[in-house]
Amino acid sequence: MSGSALFDTFARAPLSFERGEGSWLVGNDGQRYLDFGAGIAVNSLGYSHPHLVAALVEQAGKFWHLSNLYEIPEQTRLAERLVAATFADKVFFTNSGAEAIEGAIKTARRYQYVNGHPERFRTITFEGAFHGRTLAAIAAGGQAKYLEGFGPKAEGFDQVPFNDIDAAEKLIGPETAAILLEPIQGEGGIRPFPAQSLKRLRELCDKHDLLLIFDEVQTGVGRTGKFFAHEWSGVTPDIMAVAKGIGGGFPMAAVLATAEAAKGMTTGIHGTTFGGNPLAMACGNAVLDVVLSDGFLDEVNRKALLMKQGLAAIADEFPDVIEDIRGQGLLLGVKCKVPAATLNVALREQKLLAVPAGDNVLRLIPALTVTDADIREALDRMRAGAKAVSASLAVAAK
Ligand SMILES: *Cc1c(COP(=O)(O)O)cnc(C)c1O
Repeated sequence: MSGSALFDTFARAPLSFERGEGSWLVGNDGQRYLDFGAGIAVNSLGYSHPHLVAALVEQAGKFWHLSNLYEIPEQTRLAERLVAATFADKVFFTNSGAEAIEGAIKTARRYQYVNGHPERFRTITFEGAFHGRTLAAIAAGGQAKYLEGFGPKAEGFDQVPFNDIDAAEKLIGPETAAILLEPIQGEGGIRPFPAQSLKRLRELCDKHDLLLIFDEVQTGVGRTGKFFAHEWSGVTPDIMAVAKGIGGGFPMAAVLATAEAAKGMTTGIHGTTFGGNPLAMACGNAVLDVVLSDGFLDEVNRKALLMKQGLAAIADEFPDVIEDIRGQGLLLGVKCKVPAATLNVALREQKLLAVPAGDNVLRLIPALTVTDADIREALDRMRAGAKAVSASLAVAAK
């Protein structure tokens, strides 16, 4: 047994914090850390955002929780705002990304069922995907390292190589219900599907009466510079899972769907105790107040360009450390030549926090409210970290 009372499932960095302000965390060691991980793209408006704090505190003084047995006006209001701002007609609130994915898959299966096709229950997914850690979500993600030791993989998921649309087309059979993908794979290493691929998938779904499900848990709510990443392509899904940034740090998530896609989700068919809880809804509405305000997403795009150009210059300076810079908006990936963990540790020594991803990529996913000064500081620290790694390579080569 390890020394901790916690499950040993996380490899934690030896850091702990006292409080946060904007894009900064203050450590228990009194040091200030520039946080370009933002709780893995969750703290979309940074720490201690006054509008979010006020919304949470105000709701906390009324009641924290109500059952979905009753009307929850803030829930209705948030759903209406999400519907007004997206392709969707209907919303179901949950607590986590994996639950939103489960809800999305259930919605697709029920659609086929009420359409007279109970045999259609399979979902096609793409290698490198990450959809969460529930039994269905690890089956959908298809990664051996997350499936190992958890019994037979949940039935109903078929996987094709990343962006292999021909393979997806070949795999469509009489039991296929849906195609599920992240428009930009997040944990998989910031790997975007080209717009042309999303268009082809949309056509395939239309042709075969399948539901197109986008997992925008990581890419959504302004992260890429659009409200949702799929807007860059002009392709809309039938169903979408949203989480991470939507609560600004309060755990909440949602399934969005067209009325047609949601038609099987009738009374009593699905449920949740905590989903859509008033505290969560207050936070979600407060996040939308900011993210949907005039010019906010333009600012995200402007700052993203500043950051991407700065990173590209550092990549040119240290080609022995960094291979390239990828991503959209403030969902950026540094593809490393050295192990990404090596650069991550070097950045931590500079008190810049980043998040590792697959494909040997380090993610830089700051708060959407990050300032120009924060970005310049992060670039300075990135340059210093890359320089230290490069110097250690030179020593090792001697
Ligand atoms: C984080 C993530 C999930 C899982 O969300 P949880 O809240 O951890 O369950 C699912 N899909 C994507 C794309 C994610 O980034």
